[in-house]
Amino acid sequence: MTDSRRFKPYIWVSWITGLLAGSDVCEWRVWYKAHFRYAKRPSENEGDLNQWEIDHAHMVRTRVKKLEADGYRVSVEDQNSFKLEGSSGTTLGGKPDIVAVRNARAALVVDEKTGQQKMSDQWQVLVYLYALPKVGFLEAVDGEVEYRHGSVSIPGSLLVVPTKAKIVSTLQMAGSDMEPPRSPSAQECKFCDIAACPDRIVAETAVAQTTEF
Ligand code: SF4
Repeated sequence: MTDSRRFKPYIWVSWITGLLAGSDVCEWRVWYKAHFRYAKRPSENEGDLNQWEIDHAHMVRTRVKKLEADGYRVSVEDQNSFKLEGSSGTTLGGKPDIVAVRNARAALVVDEKTGQQKMSDQWQVLVYLYALPKVGFLEAVDGEVEYRHGSVSIPGSLLVVPTKAKIVSTLQMAGSDMEPPRSPSAQECKFCDIAACPDRIVAETAVAQTTEF
């Protein structure tokens, strides 16, 4: 596959959450994904991914049953798919695992995570809280990230002006015509799937020696 430019920038929610959380720094990675359909590096974790899908589906099913028992009307995954287009032409796309509604105006959005707690997970839900009311879901949306052992509640009140501004500025950067610099690091490049990146770092950080300590 040859990389080809998209007609308009398109950003999937999870592409920006590492930048929002500060765990990622390579803006070019997000910018490139937003602007290009691209060839991906072969995944080394295909077996893990299959297991992840099984575990994740189980967590979603279990939580849906609990929410329905509590009187919620629940929609899952593809049913929750949204696209939000800004006036710049950039589109934000996403698909929350669970949206649960119990009255006419309020909803709970839940994302199920099989791994360790990460700030980027919470940012993912914050981006859903930002987008869902704009795409016709209910007015008041609260959020939650559920892990295998425990959950983190993300009330809609956390979506204060600076938080929204951070989300918007990250979307603006990713959708902009201005190409940001690449910021390669062994840790981040290891998990980046863009085959065409010319600056990928594959070696682990070299160990230097000193006699001072
Ligand atoms: S391989 Fe590294 S430098 Fe290249 S886009 Fe990915 S994270 Fe950035």
